[in-house]
This record gives sequence, C-alpha cells and structure tokens, in this order.
Amino acid sequence: MSAAPDQHVTSPSAARAVLPLRPELAGLEPYGAPQLDVPYRLNVNENPYPPSPAVVADIARDVAAAAGDLNRYPDRDFLALRTDLVEYLRVESGVSLVPEQVWAANGSNEVMLHLLQAFGGPGRTAMSFAPTYSMYPEYARDTSTRWVAGRRDDDFGLDPVATAAAIREHTPSVVLLASPNNPTGTALPAATVEAVLAAAAQVPGGCVVVVDEAYGEFRRRGTPSALELLDGHPNLAVSRTMSKAFGLAGARVGYLVAAPALIDALRVVRLPYHLSGVTQAVARAALRHAPELMAQVGSLRDERDALVTWLRGRGLTAADSDANFVLFGMFDDRHAVWQGLLDRGVLIREVGPDGWLRVSVGTPAETAAFKDALVEVAGL
Ligand code: PMP
Repeated sequence: MSAAPDQHVTSPSAARAVLPLRPELAGLEPYGAPQLDVPYRLNVNENPYPPSPAVVADIARDVAAAAGDLNRYPDRDFLALRTDLVEYLRVESGVSLVPEQVWAANGSNEVMLHLLQAFGGPGRTAMSFAPTYSMYPEYARDTSTRWVAGRRDDDFGLDPVATAAAIREHTPSVVLLASPNNPTGTALPAATVEAVLAAAAQVPGGCVVVVDEAYGEFRRRGTPSALELLDGHPNLAVSRTMSKAFGLAGARVGYLVAAPALIDALRVVRLPYHLSGVTQAVARAALRHAPELMAQVGSLRDERDALVTWLRGRGLTAADSDANFVLFGMFDDRHAVWQGLLDRGVLIREVGPDGWLRVSVGTPAETAAFKDALVEVAGL
C-alpha cells in the first residue's frame, strides 16, 4: 500500500540528506496551478465544454476495442494517428503534409521535452522571450540546457530586428515561440517568425525554431499558422495539442509538425511505446468529431472577443487575444483581486507581468459569474 502524502515513511529533510538530488533541483516546487474544487474554474485555459455524448460514446467504443489488445505493446510509431492528424491539419490549416512529418506524445509538454532532449543538452542554449509559458525554462533545466529569456515588447509582440539580434548574440540551438502566447494571447505575424527563422539559419551548428501553437485553433480570422512556413524551413517545428480546442486535456495528446529528418531525431529520444494504445484510440475517436468540436471553438472565440470588449468597456486594459483566455488589468494589488474572485467561487490565474491577471474563456454562464464577481471585487 502506498503512503498517503502526509505519511512519509522518512521525513523530507532526512530524505534530502541521503538523496543525490541534482543541486539545481534543490528546494524547487513542482510546476502547476492550484487545483481547487470551486464552482468556476477559469485558471488553466481548459475547454469548458466536456466531450458530447456522441464523442464519449465513440471514445468508449474504441477504448473497449483497444482494451482487448492491451497484452500487446501499442504501435510504437502510431501511424494511424499520424495519418488522422495529417487529415485534420489539411482541413484546419489548409496545409498538405505526410505522416512522416508528424510526431505525437503525452501532451505538447512532452513533445517539446523531446525537442529539448534531441536538440538541447549540456553546452547548448535554449531561448524564449518573456512573458511566456513558464514550462519552457523547465524543459531546459531538465535537459541540462542553458536557458536565456529575452523580452517581448510592451504590447507583448516581438520586434523582428531585436529578436534576430538576440538570437545572433546567444546562438541558441532551440528557440521557443508561443503563438498565440501564454499568458498574453498574442499571435506572431508570419513576418516575425520568418525573421526568427532567418536568424536561426545563421546560428553555427544549427537552431531549431519551435512555434508552440497550443492555442492555434483559437486564432482570429486572418491570423496565419506557422504550418504555412514549413516548406523550405527544415529547422521549423510547429507544436499543437488536443488539450485545448479538442477539449481533451485529460487524455494527454500533443503533436508536432516538422520535416521528416527532424521527426527522426525525436524518435531516437522517445521512450519505447510512449503513447499508449488507449491514448491513441481516444485521440483518433476525437479526431473523427473534429467538425463538431471546431464549431465549439468558434463560439469560444466569439465569447473571448465579447469578453475583451466588456473588460475594455469597464475601463480595464485587456490584451488582444488569439487564444481561449484574456490577460487583463491593471491592478495595484492583483493578488487581492484574485483572492476576492476566489472568495466568490471564481478561480482565475495570477500570472504574467505585475498588475495583470489571466482568465480562461468559459461557458456563457461561467463568464457571467466571472463578470459579476469582478464588478464587485474591483468596484467597476
Ligand atoms: N504550450 C502552451 C503555450 C501552453 O499554455 C500549454 C498548456 N497550458 C502547453 C503548451 C501544454 O499543453 P499540453 O501538454 O496539455 O498539450
């Protein structure tokens, strides 16, 4: 029987004295937002809509079929899933790909860890531009890669000239760019990504540019996907996830698109059979329902735009968002606002530059509860 968390067999301090923990991990806390049981959870950019009964039924049927094969290891190259993802991206982004250009893992977090395992490492540098997703430095730390964070502009965009200069200065082997960015919601214009790719092409020894499109499906009309830049850029990797648009955060499925040679490098560092047969079955069943799920993404986008307009109408600042969340402020004491909302059953995220808070787009009822609570707490 395993010990409950509060019944450690050895006291933590005694364990620390004998465990050869890597010094750079000493005293660190695991990453993760609070998981609190409150009525309105708008803090981790989940899709507020659970899978519909039709999706649940399809998943259940396919998982039952997969269960009958669980004595065998799963298809280690998950070819059927890669083929389905190619078809999904053809419809979603209008790009024409082959399965050898697709990689998948347990969430896009694992996809990006694979990238750092293959292209980072001791003596190498990974780079991004803050404020951005706080897991990036952790991938670097866990793969003993040096970490450098440049800055985004005041409007949370990236100046192409300054970004290219920073890449020339630090000569990273990996550059991570979230677009749309978390926590700001900012998408990068194609010209900026192209400027980064041009600078990366000059880095001695090579540099992989990762465009993290975890929120890609929520981009506003006219905002391009970096998938359109894959042709002619063998060092570009575009990361996506089923956690957000597909409402499948609990299934842990992320994927990436790049040139076949880049994917081959990831195959070397992955653990054997890293994507379980159950996970593959769940992902494939959900992909069959892509049209229905994408319609829901459309209504979340509309909700997001309405929320930005409402926040601005109340005299607050709200960053433009291409994602399923909004960064807003400015508050002299953002913690007090966060706490006031929580006291009213609404959990959002205290993240980003000082004075700002981030709220995920929920159902209309959840958004209404957030608005009512905010009006009270912030005296709007
Ligand atoms: N990238 C960004 C920018 C994110 O915000 C997140 C999740 N919050 C992820 C990647 C990872 O998501 P997952 O591992 O669920 O695919």
